[in-house]
Amino acid sequence: MTTVPGAAAKPQYSRRRFLSAALIGLAPKTDKPIQGGFADTMMPLGHRLRDRVLGVTFQETVRVPLVIVGAGIAGLSAAWHLDKRGFRDFVLLEMDRQAGGNSKWGENEVSAYPWAAHYLPVPSKEVKLVYELMEELGVYHDGHWEERHLCHSPQERLYLHGRWQEGLEPEIAATKADRAQYKRFHERMREFEQSGEWVIPMDNGKRKRRELDQLSMADWMRRNGYDSPYLHWLVDYSCRDD
Ligand SMILES: Cc1cc2nc3c(=O)[nH]c(=O)nc-3n(C[C@H](O)[C@H](O)[C@H](O)COP(=O)(O)OP(=O)(O)OC[C@H]3O[C@@H](n4cnc5c(N)ncnc54)[C@H](O)[C@@H]3O)c2cc1C
Repeated sequence: MTTVPGAAAKPQYSRRRFLSAALIGLAPKTDKPIQGGFADTMMPLGHRLRDRVLGVTFQETVRVPLVIVGAGIAGLSAAWHLDKRGFRDFVLLEMDRQAGGNSKWGENEVSAYPWAAHYLPVPSKEVKLVYELMEELGVYHDGHWEERHLCHSPQERLYLHGRWQEGLEPEIAATKADRAQYKRFHERMREFEQSGEWVIPMDNGKRKRRELDQLSMADWMRRNGYDSPYLHWLVDYSCRDD
């Protein structure tokens, strides 16, 4: 059986690392590897930018009052927001050839299709800017969502230890202690949800919890006694996912 590496003190799993750990488990069961690759090929360039080893000589310096780095949905939304409110003195930089980041899309002879993000979690009423954007995009109008654009109940599967399982909460090899932590965690999240404290943007929350901005989700979990590596993976994945 494959164990998830680093299950001791500080669990940190990328989706890719988690899946590779799972793929190792597949090897003895079948010699047919999963075909395919990754649609996002920008990581090496991103790392070169981060490490300042691009090997490019800059020839011009341009000064602008505001620079938005990255034309993923966050950068695009920021640009949309500024533009709509009349502030246009900014540039939006994107290192990829196509804008969109994790919500970028492809197209074939049948239709357009998403490379990653594909469903819209219907936001709570407090998230006014999302409603404004969706209205503009024609996804929400007259108090109704355009069903065609919504994925009613996304079904997801996880490939772990050489097997597929339904749902994203790791079940295969999860111990009783892991499951107890899943339960306690979900109950805690429900309490937060019902309290109205956790909304996005956080300024609209019933109580400002600035202290939460000072620590990572993983640290919050550790402080609150959540040390299950599977739960950490799930929350890490969920923070990245939606
Ligand atoms: C497989 C997958 C499926 C998902 N499915 C869903 C879903 O169904 N529904 C949902 O709501 N969410 C989903 N998500 C999550 C959602 O896609 C992301 O949360 C969201 O797209 C993140 O947007 P972002 O703008 O913050 O970052 P990103 O999308 O990562 O965008 C960052 C952009 O910045 C660019 N960039 C980075 N560094 C630089 C630099 N130095 N200079 C210039 N450009 C730079 C990158 O090229 C990229 O385009 C999914 C994510 C993944 C990975």
